[in-house]
Amino acid sequence: MEDCLFCKIIAGKIPSTKVYEDDYVYAFNDIDPQAPLHVVIVPKIHIKSAAEITAENSVYVAKIFEAVAKIAAQEGLEKGFRVVNNCGEDGGQTVGHLHYHLLAKRFLAWPPG
Ligand code: AMP
Ligand code: ZN
Repeated sequence: MEDCLFCKIIAGKIPSTKVYEDDYVYAFNDIDPQAPLHVVIVPKIHIKSAAEITAENSVYVAKIFEAVAKIAAQEGLEKGFRVVNNCGEDGGQTVGHLHYHLLAKRFLAWPPG
C-alpha cells in the first residue's frame, strides 16, 4: 500500500534494523523501544489490523508466530517474553498495518495500561 509506513519499511524505502525475515514476515527493531528488546513483526502484505484477519490471510498470522519462536531462540529469550497486538483506536494502534510487538529482556508487569 502506497501510503503505509510499514509497507515502505518492508520495501526498504524507509530504513529499519532487520531482526528476522522470510517470505511472509519482516521483523525489525522498534524505533521507540519499550523494553531492552522490542521487535515489531509485520506481514509482508498490507492487512490493516487484527480486525481484518480472514481465512484467506490468516496464514500470515501463523507465520508471524513461527517467527516469534525463531526470534526468541535467536535472541536467547529463555526467561520469557510478551507478544502484543494493538488494534484500532481504543487498542492504541498508531500504524495501520497489522503488527505484533515482541517485548523482552525485562520483567513485564500485568495488566498492561
Ligand atoms: P502501535 O502503536 O501498536 O501501532 O505500534 C507502532 C509501533 O511502530 C510503535 O511502537 C512505534 O514506535 C513503531 N514505529 C513507528 N515508526 C517506526 C519506524 N520508522 N521504525 C521502527 N518502528 C517504528
Ligand atoms: Zn502496509
